[in-house]
Amino acid sequence: MSSLSAPLNAEEIANLVHWRRCLHQEPELSLEEYDTQTWLLKTLAAMGAHDVHKVGGTGLALRFGRGETDATLLLRADMDALPVDEQSGLDFASRRPGHMHACGHDGHMASLLAVTQRLVAHASEIPGHVVVAFQPGEESGRGAVKMIEDGLLDGRWLDGRGSRVQAAYGLHLWSPLPVGVISCASGPTMAAVDDFTITVRGRGGHGALPHTADDAIVAAAHVVVALQSIASRRTNPLEPVVVTVGSFHGGSAFNVIAEEVVLRGTVRSFDKALGEHLPQWLTQIAQATAQAHGATAEVQYQRYTVALRNDPAMADRLARVAQKTAGVTTVDRELRMMAGEDMAFFLDAVPGCFFFVGCGGPQAEPHHSPRFVVDEAALPVGVNVMLSAVSEFFGA
Ligand SMILES: [Zn+2]
Ligand SMILES: [Zn+2]
Repeated sequence: MSSLSAPLNAEEIANLVHWRRCLHQEPELSLEEYDTQTWLLKTLAAMGAHDVHKVGGTGLALRFGRGETDATLLLRADMDALPVDEQSGLDFASRRPGHMHACGHDGHMASLLAVTQRLVAHASEIPGHVVVAFQPGEESGRGAVKMIEDGLLDGRWLDGRGSRVQAAYGLHLWSPLPVGVISCASGPTMAAVDDFTITVRGRGGHGALPHTADDAIVAAAHVVVALQSIASRRTNPLEPVVVTVGSFHGGSAFNVIAEEVVLRGTVRSFDKALGEHLPQWLTQIAQATAQAHGATAEVQYQRYTVALRNDPAMADRLARVAQKTAGVTTVDRELRMMAGEDMAFFLDAVPGCFFFVGCGGPQAEPHHSPRFVVDEAALPVGVNVMLSAVSEFFGA
């Protein structure tokens, strides 16, 4: 006898893999997921889900349940791909040159479709509501905010019939972990992502006459080194911070002292209070260091996503459920990383848990690599955990 949380059967697993491969072939970039949205609408309609709403531009949301209680649980999958030219060698590789599902979001959408198919058949088992959300624009860090602005969390998206979301679950396939491993740490799990541009300006001149110029290259090089003191000297060593300068552009010839250098980089952190100091520290160090070398520094600082924080109680619930789920061999509670993820905006507003689903192993290609591949045996493991978590949330 089938129930909402029974492990996927062979036919459901075949659908799951088929959907993932269809999506993999047609990747679209952040906030341009038009064809993906259309394909999802068609696939949802074919499984009997018709009341589907466009939310957040290219995103979609739909709702299940009897609605006799206020309990409303959000399930979220991201939709976008990356500007990467696929070199996986798969026979269902991307048909769009320069675009690739290199982060596994195709697998996330397929997994949420498999969950949705179960919800279609078992909606009457949900006393409250489950909101299913396909979210655009994760890689750009903008999609979750767009869905929240459209009322996904407060219920406005559903034309006055909506209910306030009380909790949220999401998953990410994770290639460094072997299939069978689920990871759900408590508290801060992924970092806040900030982005900066520093323009260092000196005075150009002849490469052989440094005393007649102010070398922007030397000044900028000192700025790069000095910025590392944010992590090593300004912050508590027990509180993680990363400052990376990812690009350094300046100069035009071997015998010309450069007048201008543009540095671009990212700052990552977990702690909110610490995060508030970062723009000021970075600006101060850049300007004072440039000045010490006769140059100036103009700093632009932008915040992308907040840190992703798993609610300890929701992470404990997910871990307990995962331990008993078919296909799960290990439940890790430690994995944290300084990568960012815009599920963070949902978990900043409501308690929830974002968990990792092993889909590779130590030798696997990293996410965002042109050779990134997903071991598809991971897909039903993630779906089974999600179904068990939904069932447990509603006390079924
Ligand atoms: Zn990614
Ligand atoms: Zn991702």
